[in-house]
Order: sequence, then structure tokens, then C-alpha cells
Amino acid sequence: MKYIGAHVSAAGGVENAPLRAHEIGATAFALFTKNQKQWSAPPLTAKNIELFRQRCQDLGYPPCAILAHDSYLINLGHPQAEALERSRQSFCDEMARCQALGLDRLNFHPGSHLNEISTDECLRRIAESINIALSKTEGVTAVLENTAGQGSNLGFRFEHLAEIIDFVEDKSRVGVCIDTCHAFAAGYDWNGKPSLFEEDNSSIAAGYENIIGAFDRIVGLDYLRGMHLNDATKPAGSRVDRHSPIGHGEIGADLFEKLMKDGRLNGFPFILETPDETLWPAEIAQLKGWATQR
Ligand SMILES: [Zn+2]
Ligand SMILES: [Zn+2]
Repeated sequence: MKYIGAHVSAAGGVENAPLRAHEIGATAFALFTKNQKQWSAPPLTAKNIELFRQRCQDLGYPPCAILAHDSYLINLGHPQAEALERSRQSFCDEMARCQALGLDRLNFHPGSHLNEISTDECLRRIAESINIALSKTEGVTAVLENTAGQGSNLGFRFEHLAEIIDFVEDKSRVGVCIDTCHAFAAGYDWNGKPSLFEEDNSSIAAGYENIIGAFDRIVGLDYLRGMHLNDATKPAGSRVDRHSPIGHGEIGADLFEKLMKDGRLNGFPFILETPDETLWPAEIAQLKGWATQR
């Protein structure tokens, strides 16, 4: 089963998200459980929680079809102790919000070294942050999203994700979300031939089968808990994160058809984060159409 949807607004309360997903024909959705640009948020009320759970049940959204996304302010690999602590507390709060809502996964960008600590040190901090959050919550998986590698953001190589997972104690509650645009911007050219990665001169996978194969070998397809479906405005390897509507960018529609027809990729949400919301119903319909064609 392929769950297909978009990152919908939770304006007015998290309980509005499933309604918005239903309106656009989605069988999956993503949401922020609090304002993603602010540190603090009022706690979820009993009414928020009850309505959210009820609507998800009524409209047919099981936990495995819903991918919460954390705040953009959080940096679980922050080089400075005080800021790291703030991020860890905020992340634990977001995990607890997911738990209260009956959600089983929280998607986040791994973290940034800010050019103050090494890549390895930052990856270890991120893993330790995950260990802390998992020890304080139950039933919610921490889902690492690969990044475009802008600035000092880590997670742009599958090896980074594997290294973080390696240091996580409870491997049953850590997962990965692949963002197609971020992967492309980071140098995984879905359409291309294998090319050299300029930073360390190691080869980077290119072409659909090679990239999925590399992910499986380095991280493991079993760790997939979601995918973000975005075309890319900038060319492969640009390290610039700009999403385009499906088929309107540098990647092209072909990748998304392949993903929908790939029998290895099932049981988790496929989420559009494409910029033109008016296109979502058509994009979802197109993805669903590809998913049912065999
Ligand atoms: Zn994200
Ligand atoms: Zn994304």
C-alpha cells in the first residue's frame, strides 16, 4: 500500500490537518504539531488531541500514513552546550506531542556543525540527542531526513545517516525519510551517470537503481519511514534546496513514476512538499494513477 499526500497546514489547530488532507484526495499527510518557526508553543489541549485522533480514524489515516515534521529551529548537533540543550528539550517536547496525538514518527533534519566542530563529532551529538529523546518517550520513531547539504547541514550523504543510526541504541525507533529534491541537490542525480563528489572525491551514486541500491547497502531500505516527493529547481549537486512541482523541475516526472511503481517502497507516507498548493490535488491524482498501474 502506498500512502500519498502532502504537507498540509495545521493552522487553527492540528485537528484541521486531516480535514485538509481529505479535501485534496490524500491518503497520507505531513504536519507541524506546533509553529515551526517558534521555540515555544501552547500545549495541545485534550480537545485538539481527541478531535485529531477521531478525524484521522474517520477519514482513514493510520499512524503509518502520517509524518509529523519538527521545527526548523532545532539543531540536534549544535556545537554549543546551551543551544544544544535547548534543541534537545524542544525535540523531546515534539516527540511527546506526537505520542499524545497517537503518531508513530517524527521527521527532522539531522543537524548542523556550524563550522565549529567536526562532522564526526556533530553526527555523534545528533545520535546522542536521539538517544535522549527515545529514552523520554514511547512509541515514536525519530526519522532522519537527508538534506541538500546547504551551509553546514549534515545528512546530505547516506553515510551520515548510517553513522548516526550506528550510534542510536534503540534501532527499532530510528528511521529515515528520503527527500528526492534534497538528494538531487546533494549530488544524487536521479537521471545521471555516476559522478565524482567534489568534497572528498568519493563516488556518489547516480541513476535510480544505483541510488536506491546505494541507500539499501549503506543505510538499509528497512529504515525507510517516509519519502518527500519534490522536483528540484536547481541542478544536481547544486547544494541548494529549492522545491519545484512534480515534472516542472530539473528531476522530471519520470523519477516519481518509478517510485510509485517500485514494489520495495511500501507501507509509509509519500509526502509532497511542492510549492504550488493549488496543484496538490492533480499531483496526488497523478501519483495515485502511477501507483495502481502495473
Ligand atoms: Zn524537512
Ligand atoms: Zn523534505
